Amino acid sequence: MSLGEPTDGVRNAAPVARRLAGMSTDLGVPAVLSPDEADRAVRLAAPRGYCAGVDRAVITVEKALDLYGAPVYVRKQIVHNKHVVSTLEDRGAIFVEELDEVPPGRTVVFSAHGVSPEVHRQAAERSLKTIDATCPLVTKVHHEAKRFAGEDYDILLIGHEGHEEVEGTAGEAPGHIQLVQGPDDVANIEVRDPERVAWLSQTTLSVDETMETVAAIRERFPALLDPPSDDICYATQNRQLAVKEIAHDADLVIVVGSGNSSNSVRLVEVALEAGARAAYRVDDASEIDEAWLEGVDTVSVTSGASVPEELVEGVLALLAERGYPDAQAVHTAEESLIFALPPELRRDMRAAEKAAGQA
Ligand code: SF4
Repeated sequence: MSLGEPTDGVRNAAPVARRLAGMSTDLGVPAVLSPDEADRAVRLAAPRGYCAGVDRAVITVEKALDLYGAPVYVRKQIVHNKHVVSTLEDRGAIFVEELDEVPPGRTVVFSAHGVSPEVHRQAAERSLKTIDATCPLVTKVHHEAKRFAGEDYDILLIGHEGHEEVEGTAGEAPGHIQLVQGPDDVANIEVRDPERVAWLSQTTLSVDETMETVAAIRERFPALLDPPSDDICYATQNRQLAVKEIAHDADLVIVVGSGNSSNSVRLVEVALEAGARAAYRVDDASEIDEAWLEGVDTVSVTSGASVPEELVEGVLALLAERGYPDAQAVHTAEESLIFALPPELRRDMRAAEKAAGQA
């Protein structure tokens, strides 16, 4: 983890107070800050917000709408953020729970969380045109599940029951996978051969909690086989490291993200474990309870991997209105990963460009 320079300023409230002391009002009169306000600081996690998989999935729906015209159907929320979903609905996307809600022959996008082979089969049966926006890092876990199942391992999938990603991954090897939600489940695991047990995980779990679960599994099954690389994705790990850095001495941590966003909910838990005196998740600034700010000097802000930056900006604007200074970014990692759009979409975009060129 490399820490960027703003961290020093963040940890010491004095530079913040000095900067505030130099501010002027609109009338040119130096602003007079109360002693309470001079102690305040706002710290902003970096990285935060959109990951490469979410960015790709949202752009996929936008490009599909441009290319095929509205409506474009999307199975499940494309990413777990209600603002993203309602913005895309405004543009003509129709979100459905299951494929029987999509008229035969129409275009449907599969969400970033992935789908099981059974869903692909249903789509073919209904003659739907499909665009698969599954995050490539989720697809990687699907491949691992298929490989372990092909080698006849019992697979312990660490994750949350009912989460779409877990359903999709489990569907790749239904006879081989069992769900483990935490260390408490380990005593009840039954396998065919203790020498042939492997584990996988959902991509958006708490790293620390998952390692605890793995340790408990390994105690029961010492021959436990690890996945070839981390299943908890780079974005989840980076956002958890970042929130630890801004949370450990914060009076209040605000995590922007929706309630069904696994990685956002984990950020609240990680913030509290890291020492934050209070931590709350909000969909946007309107959900901030004024009482949370009472007696609070240091507010730390971050956002989940499916959260547009404008929602974070709304939170910072509200804090500014309440007398908090500009946020100082605390850098813990650089991210530059970009995923190519789904190949079926790129193919149609190329064909459309070619047709336009010939017209
Ligand atoms: S959180 Fe990770 S696995 Fe999920 S979409 Fe983002 S990069 Fe992919």
